[in-house]
Amino acid sequence: MILSFPQARACVLREVGSARNVPAAERVPALEAAGRVLAEEIVADRDYPPFPRSARDGFAVRAADVPGELRVLGEVRAGEVYRGFVGPGEAVEIMTGAPLPEGADAVVMVEHTERDGNRVRVARAVKSGENFNPQGAEARRNQVVLRPGDRLGFAEIALLAMVGRECASVYRRPRVAIVPTGDEIVEAGQKPEPFQIRNSNAGSISVQVARAGGEPHVLPIARDNYESTRALVAQGLETDLLLLSGGVSAGKYDIVERVLADLGAEFFFDRVLIQPGQPLVFGKVRGKFFFGLPGNPGSTMVTFEVFARAAVELLSGAKEAPLPLLLARLSKDVRQKPGLTRFLPARLSADGSTVAQEPWQGSGDVAALARANAFLVTEPDRDSWAAGELIRVLLK
Ligand code: AMP
Ligand code: MG
Repeated sequence: MILSFPQARACVLREVGSARNVPAAERVPALEAAGRVLAEEIVADRDYPPFPRSARDGFAVRAADVPGELRVLGEVRAGEVYRGFVGPGEAVEIMTGAPLPEGADAVVMVEHTERDGNRVRVARAVKSGENFNPQGAEARRNQVVLRPGDRLGFAEIALLAMVGRECASVYRRPRVAIVPTGDEIVEAGQKPEPFQIRNSNAGSISVQVARAGGEPHVLPIARDNYESTRALVAQGLETDLLLLSGGVSAGKYDIVERVLADLGAEFFFDRVLIQPGQPLVFGKVRGKFFFGLPGNPGSTMVTFEVFARAAVELLSGAKEAPLPLLLARLSKDVRQKPGLTRFLPARLSADGSTVAQEPWQGSGDVAALARANAFLVTEPDRDSWAAGELIRVLLK
């Protein structure tokens, strides 16, 4: 079955999203949980902020008293509590992060004041509630702040520390088998004959699997014959997800699909209208999902990023698997034949505003893929894009 890019992506999200079981969980130290997916609810141990917290350096006042001249009772710094009460006509000097003294209902910024001994003149009005964060405004005690399925990035790790959690329960990473195929492929450490190619796909896929939250298991290279491919597919099916590279084109020695079909596979699609990566196979066999990724290194990388990555993320327990897309302005024209959604190696400017296609020789050009820091995404219903137009960009 041939699908468009959106259809194929929706198919992967639907099939993997509906079939997955909740993965087993393990407890790990919070810092080691970075990049993992949370398996429990995390609740706030107290109100956040735990006290009305000044957001500015300035003076704690009663809003009704300003503008005006006030008597300064003292000061309060972060890490201290002011024990007195701010009455009418009074102020307490306050630092960012310090608790608002009782009686005050606003903070005036130091920039808007003039200090003279124990008097302070405030030139501007402030509203009640201005320049401080009320107790509990960010989270209430016992409020759920993280949920199962949340991926633990830097902000989530900060949140764990904030609420005093030194360990967290996270899902076990799915094990992902990587089976390179091809008679011409030799291991990267070997010296190839002039007509042989080093196995670079096992490297790129391993990194992509790990980045998506999976545990890569690289298997030996399957040769382009039925027995070798079948043996390695069977071995790969002992893991949670099987990724094959190569052997899915229409060539005489492309036998991956035949091996999978004989094992009773259900194929959801075997071609997608994208470039690179048209001959992409996705299916399920013996309860495990598999992708037959096309062998050209660029095709392997792109099809992993836009399809298999979502599968690994969902199998790792993540509740969502969004594509990291943004819009940028083309700095050069782009021309392509219509009919396919294309993912073209590109350079995104440092400020993320402009993008240009990176010259490349097609999906075998690993050097161009390494030079690129993003992919331009061209829609199938157009053949040209002018410099200055906004275009979708997939981050690499
Ligand atoms: P295939 O999809 O098997 O027809 O392979 C397409 C192209 O990708 C061929 O030029 C292969 O040599 C190349 N290729 C396949 N597998 C790998 C691999 N593991 N590493 C690098 N190149 C590969
Ligand atoms: Mg091949």
